[in-house]
Amino acid sequence: MFGVKPFCISKLDGVGCKNPVSKPGERCDSCYNKIVADGSVAARIALAQEGGLPKYVRNALAQDPLITVRATFASRPDITKEEESAILTIADEMLERALANNPYISSETLRKLKENTKDPLTSSIIASRLNS
Ligand SMILES: [Zn+2]
Repeated sequence: MFGVKPFCISKLDGVGCKNPVSKPGERCDSCYNKIVADGSVAARIALAQEGGLPKYVRNALAQDPLITVRATFASRPDITKEEESAILTIADEMLERALANNPYISSETLRKLKENTKDPLTSSIIASRLNS
């Protein structure tokens, strides 16, 4: 009656993690925390593109100390308005361009970006989006 529980998909030092997860393809909390807290830049960037992330992982990635990780997160098709605002609290060209290029951001965020950006490239990305 009980199926075999799927395992976490993480491979730590080449060895598969043996923690059970609720659905196949998921990671366990311990692995998520490990990547977010001490993962390499490449691992955090890869995670920022993964589907099915729990909210606490999304929050951590949206506030990652490294702008490249936050910019990768800013390009997600499933980004929420809350996350867009969190990313925009630090005005940075790379983050603004990543958001401006994301076709899934809210019109409110696009408008805020248009009004507040000092970056000519971000402005031109927005202008071409609004004219098409
Ligand atoms: Zn794990």
